[in-house]
Amino acid sequence: MKSLDRLTRVTNICDQAILLRRFPYSESSLVTRVFTRQHGKLGLLARGAYRPKSRFYCVLDHFDTLELEWLEQRGRELQDLREGDIHTRRSKISSDLESYRAGSLVCELIDLTSPFGQQDLGMWKRLTLCLDELNSGSRPAWEAAVCFELGLLEEHGLCPALELCASCGREASPPDPNEPRACFSASCGGRLCAACGRDARDAGRRVGTMPLDVLEAASLLLRGAREGVRISPLAPALLLRLRDFVDRFMDHHLEVRAKARGDFLSKADRNSRTALSATSLRT
Ligand SMILES: [Zn+2]
Repeated sequence: MKSLDRLTRVTNICDQAILLRRFPYSESSLVTRVFTRQHGKLGLLARGAYRPKSRFYCVLDHFDTLELEWLEQRGRELQDLREGDIHTRRSKISSDLESYRAGSLVCELIDLTSPFGQQDLGMWKRLTLCLDELNSGSRPAWEAAVCFELGLLEEHGLCPALELCASCGREASPPDPNEPRACFSASCGGRLCAACGRDARDAGRRVGTMPLDVLEAASLLLRGAREGVRISPLAPALLLRLRDFVDRFMDHHLEVRAKARGDFLSKADRNSRTALSATSLRT
């Protein structure tokens, strides 16, 4: 009986949360997936959320920080939401298309990469910071999103080597002094020196090159995020190529593709030699 008691034990829990997804359930209820400050990702059932007098009316919106209270019952996939309130409203994100897209992407990435029920304070801080930036417009929407993505890679120990060689840790100068591109291999962990690039190629690894300005911009953004310094704005064309670089790297390592960036990545690599020479011919 004791173990049964433990299995069915119900605990009342309060925590801050960001809504990741929501689906209608039955006639008037809502199933939500949220990312919380102390309990990680979890599923909550908001009974009667669509009823006109529901206590969740106008509360369960995207991008806001919510104060939620739920009953946790062990062994259940969906917990019963009891109370909900808005802690921080971020209504401006939904009124600007680029901010909305960037906000949707970062929430989708949290949903795709966070395990259920595991606290991740690092990602919580990065997510709320990114949403604050999108809401205030303190930096361009996609710069905030790219900074979040680099932070996510860093939190997962997957951040590419951007300055030194990923393999030997030494300086990684461009293999051709006349061309501002460094050896780069996603599967080898990022930037490579010429010698390690050759070794990796001989070992059958895929090794390409990456423009130095993209690697430098990524490094500046990451260092800035770590030290709380904002480095912006980046030139729009460089930001577009930086986004392409980070998204492809993330695609390679996480083996999941957020729907919110499917269209973006369906275009040819914007950092390839051919893409860059076509751009320079046009300008
Ligand atoms: Zn090396």
